Amino acid sequence: MVSEKMVKLGTNRSVIRDLFEYGNQRKAEIGADKVFDFSLGNPSVPAPPAVREAALDLLQNEDELLLHGYTSAQGDAGLREKIAAYINGQHGVHLTADNLYITVGAAASLTISLKALTEEGDEFITFAPFFPEYRVFVENAGASLVVADSDPEDFQIDCGVFEKAVTAHTKGVILNSPNNPSGVVITEDRIRELCGILEKKQREYGHPIFLISDEPYRELVYDGVKVPYLMNYYDNTIVCYSYSKSLSLPGERIGYIAVSEKAAEWKKIYAAVCGAGRSLGYVCAPSLFQQVVARCIGQTSDVSIYKKNRDLLYNALTEYGYRCIRPDGAFYLFVEALEKDANAFSAKAREYELLLVPADSFGTPGFVRISYCVSTEQIERSLPAFRALAEAYGK
Ligand code: PLP
Repeated sequence: MVSEKMVKLGTNRSVIRDLFEYGNQRKAEIGADKVFDFSLGNPSVPAPPAVREAALDLLQNEDELLLHGYTSAQGDAGLREKIAAYINGQHGVHLTADNLYITVGAAASLTISLKALTEEGDEFITFAPFFPEYRVFVENAGASLVVADSDPEDFQIDCGVFEKAVTAHTKGVILNSPNNPSGVVITEDRIRELCGILEKKQREYGHPIFLISDEPYRELVYDGVKVPYLMNYYDNTIVCYSYSKSLSLPGERIGYIAVSEKAAEWKKIYAAVCGAGRSLGYVCAPSLFQQVVARCIGQTSDVSIYKKNRDLLYNALTEYGYRCIRPDGAFYLFVEALEKDANAFSAKAREYELLLVPADSFGTPGFVRISYCVSTEQIERSLPAFRALAEAYGK
C-alpha cells in the first residue's frame, strides 16, 4: 500500500530525536533547569541583529507581491550574484550566479547534489564519524554509502584507509569539516593528500570523482583555525552550504550549492543540479529569507559564545578524567564513553540527568556526542553531574 522503506524511515526516529523527546518529558516532570540536555545541534546564539533589521525593513518597505512571490527555480539572481562575489572575494575563485543554486538548507544541498550525480551502481565515500543522515540521503539518491574510518587518534582522514575504499564505482566523497560530531577541522596537509589520491584514482578509472564539501559549520571555528576552501585544492568540487548555523537560522531553511567553475563539464553538472532540484520539488527557496540573507552575507552569529562553551566543557571534562579531542570548530564535543557500550553509558548518564547522544549511528561506536550549543549557564550547572558520572566509573 505504501513504501515500507519510507514507513521505516518515518517511524524509526533518530537516536538524537529520541533523546530530545525524552528530555522534554523529563523537564516536564522535574523542571527544565534540572535536566542537562546536550542532544540537539540547534544554535543557542541568536542571529546577528542585521537579520531582524533586514526582515523588518523588507516586510515594511518592500512590495509584498515581490517579497512573497516565486523567485527563479534556482534562486533569486541578485542573491546568487552576491553570494558568488562574496565567495570569490574570500577564496579567490571565479564563480558567477550561474554556479549557484539556492536551497532549503544543507540537507537539501546534499540531497540535490547526490541526486544530480548518481547513476546506477554508484558509491559515495564518507569518513567516520559522520552525520547519520548521509546514509539516508545517499540511499535515497539510489547510491550506496561506503564509510572509511578516520585516524582514531585525532579523527583526521586516514588516507591509507581512504585509498583502499575508492573503487571504480566511487562517484564521490562527502567531506564535512568542521565536523559533526567530532568538531575536528581537517588540516590542509590531509586535504592535499586526499585530493592527490582522488586525482590519481580519476586517472586510473577514467571518470570524474566528485568531492562534496558539506560545510554548514565553516564559520564556526576557534583560535584562528583555517578551513581550506576545497575548490582551491580539487577541481571537481561541489560545495553544500547552509546559513542554519552561521546565521543561526536553522528553521528558515536557506543554503546553497556551489559548483566549481573548474569542474569537468561544470555547466552540465549545474544543469543536473537544476534537474535534481526540480525532480525533488526543491525549487524556489523561501523568497523572504532569500532577501534577508542577501543583506547579511558575510555576517555570522557571535561565535565567541560557542568558544567559551567549548573551553569550559573541554577543560572541566578532561580534568574529571574524560577523554576527548579538543574541537577546533562546530559546537560538538566527542567524548569516549566510560564503558565499552556507548548506549549503556548514555543510559547511565541519564541517571544524572545528562542527555548525551550515543555515537553508534555516527559510525564510531564507543563515543557520545555533546552538543554545547546551549547556554553557558547550563554547562556550568551540569558540571557537578559530569563529575559525579565520572566518579561512578572510578575516575
Ligand atoms: N550536514 C551536517 C554535518 C549537519 O550537522 C547538518 C545539521 O545539523 C546538516 C548537514 C543539515 O543542515 P540544514 O539544517 O541546513 O539542512
